[in-house]
Amino acid sequence: MQNADSAYEALSARLERAMAAQTALTLFEWDNETLAPRQAGELTARVQGALSTAYQEAMTGEGMKELLDACRKEKLDEIPAAIVREAADEYERLACIPPEEYRAFQELVAKSTRVWAQVKQEQDFEQFAPTLEKIIDFQKRFAGYRAKPGQKLYDVMLDEYEKGFDMEALDGFFGLLRDELVPFFKEVTRSGCQPENGFLRGDYPEEKQQELVEYMAEYVGFDFERGVLAVSAHPFTTNLHNRDVRLTTHYSDRVDSSLFSVIHEAGHGIYEQGIDDELTQTLLGQGASMGMHESQSRFFENILGRSAAFWVPVYPKLQELFPQQLSGVSREEFVRAVNRVEPGLIRTEADELSYSLHVLVRYELEKQLIEENLEVSRLPQLWADKYEEYLGVRPANAAEGVLQDIHWAQGSFGYFPSYALGSAFGAQMLHGMRSELDIDALLEAGDLSPIREYLRSHIHRWGKRKTSRELLREMTGEDFNPSYYVEYLKEKYGSLCRTRS
Ligand code: ZN
Repeated sequence: MQNADSAYEALSARLERAMAAQTALTLFEWDNETLAPRQAGELTARVQGALSTAYQEAMTGEGMKELLDACRKEKLDEIPAAIVREAADEYERLACIPPEEYRAFQELVAKSTRVWAQVKQEQDFEQFAPTLEKIIDFQKRFAGYRAKPGQKLYDVMLDEYEKGFDMEALDGFFGLLRDELVPFFKEVTRSGCQPENGFLRGDYPEEKQQELVEYMAEYVGFDFERGVLAVSAHPFTTNLHNRDVRLTTHYSDRVDSSLFSVIHEAGHGIYEQGIDDELTQTLLGQGASMGMHESQSRFFENILGRSAAFWVPVYPKLQELFPQQLSGVSREEFVRAVNRVEPGLIRTEADELSYSLHVLVRYELEKQLIEENLEVSRLPQLWADKYEEYLGVRPANAAEGVLQDIHWAQGSFGYFPSYALGSAFGAQMLHGMRSELDIDALLEAGDLSPIREYLRSHIHRWGKRKTSRELLREMTGEDFNPSYYVEYLKEKYGSLCRTRS
């Protein structure tokens, strides 16, 4: 007779090895972006390659399938049972692809991101097209291996980033954004109520910006006893476990750029620091999904950080750090400036109102690429047409158009919708939270802890134990409802315009 604990114990030992390899990989990724010397690349890549193999062996190697089957037959508590499910998912994901195809794809992607960086500089999409075609072929083939009978390929890809949001759900969501936000955005940009924001750019010394962003990260609740902040070309957050969460930022002559990017990354970081101890270092010890993660970062950055109430207690700190630059700028003027809406070409620089319209363009094109065999060569034209239609601007070249994001070069199809979903999750959470907390009063009093605690108990602590859809339903008492997002944006940007006149 089999010992009741044995299969799960054996699985745990394998998962422990996988976790260690994964954690080391994460640390190398962080290091490559922040502190590693320029020449480290090639040799460190060897270490990373070996660690990836170790991870894959631990997750899919000999005996894993039998072990998972045996675990499924055991009577397990809720958390171990969820860990087994997660391990089985990861096994299926990795094991259904023939190893030689997977390796060929990894090699292609390693090359393609370099090609992408080069052609972006040269603004030459045509040179990138053959590589992109190969990437799409691989991704469609892999999705085919993973697809359940009758499942569409793009739905397989979407499921990897956001469970419960397939094309049917997203067509509804993006359709609403197209119908409601495109005309509203045009109305706001044509109304002439664009506030002055020139004072945000100028001589903002880096040491002072650093002092500001460290203060702000801590102010919103990022714990520097369990996290650090460093500098990288593109800001990001990563975590080894809930006691080691790492943010990065970058400094420029725009003070609002580092300021809001740090509040954004701190939102990701607070999520990771808030995951329960019993989940960290297990397969459940990370955010529920990409979209849920983005909901937290964008909640801190935009819903809280760009609100008028938020700046009541902290604007004096900003003026104290930059007396010359901001002494003549009132708090109201500052808040209006950081909410300035304008038609732009670059997603990562977009204002809160137009942000999701950038994502809408990508969603529509991905769907056509995967489901309708859109020819890659037609992408630049269609991209430009859609930008003109939705945002009223047309890229002059591929670098500010179809080549601006790295995602497709990395083979990430189905990732983009999470950015827009996260924004919509956040607005629905705000609506739910308002029935229990007076958010503006708390922000004005400089007491963010009840807000953070609310998010921690409803979202953060659960890690991956529940899907984003389940978390949202349990927190707000209703299924995903994007109309809160549209209402939130119309209310906020409508009133910002009204207060101006
Ligand atoms: Zn983010």
